Amino acid sequence: MPDIAPVLSQQAHRRAAYIVSALLLLIAVAISPYLTSDLPAIAAFLPAYGTAVVLLEGITAYLLLSQFATRRKIFPGLVASAYLALIPLVMVQQLVFPGVFTPKGLLQAGTQSAVWIWVFWHALFPALMLLACFAETLIKIEQVEYKDLRVWLLGLTLVPLAFSLSLALFATWGSHLLPDLITNNSYQKLLHSPYALIVWGLNALALACMLTRARSNNVLYVWLCVALLASLIDVTLTLFAGARFSLGWYAARISSCVSSMVLLGALLWEVNRLYINTQRANEQLYQQSVRDTLTGLFNRRYLESQLDLLINHAKRYNEPLCLLVLDVDHFKAFNDRYGHLAGDSCLIEVAKQLEQGLQRPADFVARYGGEEFVVVLPYTDAEGGRKVAEQLRLRISNCHMNYHGQELNVTASIGFTLLQNNEDTAMSLLLAADKALYQAKAAGRNCVKAAMHEN
Ligand code: GH3
Ligand code: MG
Ligand code: MG
Repeated sequence: MPDIAPVLSQQAHRRAAYIVSALLLLIAVAISPYLTSDLPAIAAFLPAYGTAVVLLEGITAYLLLSQFATRRKIFPGLVASAYLALIPLVMVQQLVFPGVFTPKGLLQAGTQSAVWIWVFWHALFPALMLLACFAETLIKIEQVEYKDLRVWLLGLTLVPLAFSLSLALFATWGSHLLPDLITNNSYQKLLHSPYALIVWGLNALALACMLTRARSNNVLYVWLCVALLASLIDVTLTLFAGARFSLGWYAARISSCVSSMVLLGALLWEVNRLYINTQRANEQLYQQSVRDTLTGLFNRRYLESQLDLLINHAKRYNEPLCLLVLDVDHFKAFNDRYGHLAGDSCLIEVAKQLEQGLQRPADFVARYGGEEFVVVLPYTDAEGGRKVAEQLRLRISNCHMNYHGQELNVTASIGFTLLQNNEDTAMSLLLAADKALYQAKAAGRNCVKAAMHEN
């Protein structure tokens, strides 16, 4: 689409557009020898067809106007107007068409009203498409200003609706002022009138104009080409069908439905793909916001968001919960000796050891900052917590990292605490574990100290 970056690739859109166009042309050519064959006049066909066209064009116009309101580029807005303009014409045509609601049609329409509405409808759509193309070239507005958006939206909606309603009512009540184009359901007069040529020419011109634009990166042009091709086929079949309720006449109406449908299909496809991509992007952004970039562990933000929840849960269900604070020993000296890159590799390895050292699904480890990590062990009592802390300490001290051929190793000190009473909070547990960590440092490092009353 013009202003939605197409999610489906340009080639895929083009391929789909070629297939639809080829099918339309193929069917039109295949039925061309039988266009004038009479088929039964099915009373329900026209209202069903009219309703479909009104709905398809209404939804297409709505989606294009939403694009215009978001991106503020005028082309989709003008195309939306072209689709909107057809709605009053189609609706009034249903009302005045002989035999749909009453034998002579409603609104005291003349015998020529329905056919003149058809002429206006099939001339207005390509004319507005041409106007949209020229306006895009002539009006040098990159983007409509925010302050003018409301006026533009009102204009793009009300002007085409009012204009085409006037045309439809003129054809309804003023058809005696217009030349006769139909007699006894036969279009021969229309076919030999200049109006046939004007309608056909406008459709062909609009298609040619859109084809020159379809080479750009903008897939909206590609689908508008298909819509205009379907409209041109609709006009051609109608004219050569010669009379209402012939095979060509029915086929033309179906082609007209395709003309209204193709752009909507492409728009819906893009909207759906955008929705899926937005979901994925959201998930990615969420992961980025809760993960530490160096180690890939959860970060402090995630820890803080989870810890209160886990503590409240543990209090409510009277479950134990342990919290460990782990700090790499003499890490400043390590950095000074081996360099910061070696320090980074070391932190990545420590993180890996911590993650692999946790067994239960509810356990998690987060990088609290620098070379400090916090491990949360829900459903774990003091004995279990101490055991896990000791295992993690051993894993780190036993791990020999290979950094550019050098074998490096570090140790870590761990302070741990247990949720003990109802007054405990995330902050009080972190402070208590941190205090225990200092005791571990003071006791010579590479050891575990607990911050519980009994210790
Ligand atoms: P102690 O045994 O008492 O914990 O001593 P220490 O040297 O580990 O503690 P200190 O707090 O003095 O130093 C922590 C060092 O960790 C300082 C900083 O250079 C290093 N550090 C913090 N974050 C990173 C990091 O992301 N990458 C690297 N390479 N080093 C880091
Ligand atoms: Mg530290
Ligand atoms: Mg340290």
